Amino acid sequence: MVDKHLPKDVSPETIAAQAGGALDPRTGALVPPIHIASTFLRDPDNQYRSGLSYGRDDNPTMLHAESVLAALEGGERAFVFSSGMAGAVTLFLALEAPAHVIAPNIMYWGLRKWLLEDAPRFGISVALVDMAKSQNVVDAMRSDRSNLVWIETPGNPMWNLTEISATAKVAHAAGALVACDSTVATPVHTRPIEHGADVVMHSATKYLNGHSDVIAGALVFRKDNGLAQQVAKDRRAVGPIIGPQEAALLIRGMRTLHVRVKHQSASAMALAERLAAHRQIAEVLYPGLPRHAGHEIASRQMAEGYGGMLSIRVEGGEAAAVSVAANVAIWKRATSLGGVESLMEHRSSIEGEGSPVPRDLLRLSVGLECVDDLARDLEQTLDRL
Ligand SMILES: *Cc1c(COP(=O)(O)O)cnc(C)c1O
Repeated sequence: MVDKHLPKDVSPETIAAQAGGALDPRTGALVPPIHIASTFLRDPDNQYRSGLSYGRDDNPTMLHAESVLAALEGGERAFVFSSGMAGAVTLFLALEAPAHVIAPNIMYWGLRKWLLEDAPRFGISVALVDMAKSQNVVDAMRSDRSNLVWIETPGNPMWNLTEISATAKVAHAAGALVACDSTVATPVHTRPIEHGADVVMHSATKYLNGHSDVIAGALVFRKDNGLAQQVAKDRRAVGPIIGPQEAALLIRGMRTLHVRVKHQSASAMALAERLAAHRQIAEVLYPGLPRHAGHEIASRQMAEGYGGMLSIRVEGGEAAAVSVAANVAIWKRATSLGGVESLMEHRSSIEGEGSPVPRDLLRLSVGLECVDDLARDLEQTLDRL
């Protein structure tokens, strides 16, 4: 659907706003219909010339979402999944066996837990390393296995930066593949394929959909290669897809991706600067602040700002942090991120035993509210500690 009605050389922002230039050829509708059919008519000569036969996983609305995603990330092929986790796990299980995954020691908790507790059951070995030094990645590789380097940048919830180009260089030199969880960066700030990644993963639940009303994931492949085809085969066989209504919501969300993310990043930057000056804040973690360890890499690797996510460490430890989350009026106490409403979460409570996250840390997902309202709400709550 992408490319049919738009010139080839337009920017991702234009592709997003027009959902790839899609329109319904019969009616001229600028918003294509939602295809809810689970099955498609076979031609009299026994062919399926439309390319569609059965709704696991043939669905035109889902295919439309995938074509927009491929264009936004600059990849040859994209797949949508029933969640970000479903996408990531499908990728790991599609690797040539025996596989070895090298991932960051601080990363999205759910995936870290799956890698540590469940991946070994499928014959996948895992090494968690500090990715600030690419030598650590090299040292963790195994010559007897197919290696995949998993990057998450900025990484949850300390917003550590990993330089994709430097990591891809050492990984590729050793014959390893590189995949990047780009949920927080979004294609607005970073397009990992341009920096050397082979695969981009998204929890589309977050910024891509952007309205906290869809659970979805995505994998975008630089090349429609053997691994992409294995992922296609596995997804078709097992069916971790989204329904057409969710696909339509996701397409609708992606149309406003750029305006939302740029606004959220600008607000996050303003909040980071304001909160850093508050006496009850021990530390603000935000890549846009020059003293953040990842600032230099972020300035090279991220465009249009530093993202809409930041964390604060509250003076007074865990009890003070939990009390702030309990007493804010505008911020919503909830997990997840990337929606239009601002969320605050005490991460170590949700991650539980074994979490490497400091106990005084609150993770903030900045929404689209007036930034002064957000700042005042937090400052007044901190003042009362
Ligand atoms: C939420 C999230 C995931 C998991 O995605 P789901 O859609 O919840 O399965 C993975 N990585 C990051 C960075 C996330 O924020």
